[in-house]
Amino acid sequence: MSNVLVVAEHVEKTLRKVTLSTINFAKQAAALTGGQVHVLVLGEGVDTLANELASGGYGANVVHVSNSATFTNYLAENYAPAVAQVAKDLDASVVCAPSSTFGKDLVPRVAALLGAGMVSDAIEVFDDGGLRFKRPLWADNVITTVEVTTPFKAVTVRATAFDALEGEAAAELKTLDLGAAASDSAEFVSFDQVKSDRPELTDADVIVAGGRGLKSAENFGMLEQLADLLGGAVGASRAAADSGYAPNDWQIGQTGKVVAPNLYFAVAISGAIQHLAGMKGSKTIVAINKDAEAPIFQVADYGLVADAFTVVPELTEKLQAAGLGK
Ligand SMILES: Cc1cc2nc3c(=O)[nH]c(=O)nc-3n(C[C@H](O)[C@H](O)[C@H](O)COP(=O)(O)OP(=O)(O)OC[C@H]3O[C@@H](n4cnc5c(N)ncnc54)[C@H](O)[C@@H]3O)c2cc1C
Repeated sequence: MSNVLVVAEHVEKTLRKVTLSTINFAKQAAALTGGQVHVLVLGEGVDTLANELASGGYGANVVHVSNSATFTNYLAENYAPAVAQVAKDLDASVVCAPSSTFGKDLVPRVAALLGAGMVSDAIEVFDDGGLRFKRPLWADNVITTVEVTTPFKAVTVRATAFDALEGEAAAELKTLDLGAAASDSAEFVSFDQVKSDRPELTDADVIVAGGRGLKSAENFGMLEQLADLLGGAVGASRAAADSGYAPNDWQIGQTGKVVAPNLYFAVAISGAIQHLAGMKGSKTIVAINKDAEAPIFQVADYGLVADAFTVVPELTEKLQAAGLGK
């Protein structure tokens, strides 16, 4: 029997939804190891957040919160020793975090401290005479099965593969005093966060994404209008980001963000495999492209062969007329 430890991801004391998907992964792993799901919240002034996590019924058994000035601003050098220590104290053989920038930065350092084998981007966990994990490779064209033979296993979890749980039993809330000393090898200087009223791409329910076919940054304006009407986020293909039509942090795909919203609009995006790797898990895909042969139509639930410059404003207008955004 051994436990599973999830490191909660939050930005400015707001929980990132990807943490909830990671808790679902952890619950599935814990059912196989016979242990419990422990969630660790590190920060300063994060009691409310930890309380929400514990009372929300997301599938954790215990939520541990550790408030310290060392954790005020995220720094992997400060977080990693604390996570490794808690993993040892709790007998947590699986230590995981979302496969986000945060998790990809933190978990390999925790793995090094624990001498743990690493699984990146896990999409499934199962028992086949030992704990096994599935993870995608080569723009999701190959799925590998991985077994980690070290006592500790460090895992980053692809959040789009695990729904957030709701209605589970509330977790016990515990306060931890880790006496965390700040690292002498790195120091927090500043955090330049992109501020937006729109939801973060990986948390959004609706995404309106545009491609190179939009031809300019100004033309992305019509996608922003549609996204705002639907309360969604705006995304882009790599070709659009590389052309300067959209910021790099809007990029979706193999080398961008992996998303799975309820509704994904792909506007003037051809549907290259590297783009599909980042969005094909979306629940409903609407493709707008003037080329009927564009590969995006192979994954689309609804396809419109049309000029985006005509139909996107028309769609926005019709949605406004139907009362959306009022
Ligand atoms: C290692 C590697 C990693 C990569 N990672 C990523 C990644 O993370 N994300 C990603 O997106 N790509 C990635 N790519 C690039 C990928 O291969 C494609 O080049 C890119 O996705 C193409 O973007 P696009 O569909 O916007 O552009 P194009 O392929 O140029 O397609 C533009 C589309 O717009 C349509 N169009 C043009 N005008 C209109 C109009 N007026 N109305 C409607 N439709 C119109 C065209 O018919 C066409 O289908 C990667 C490539 C490599 C090699």
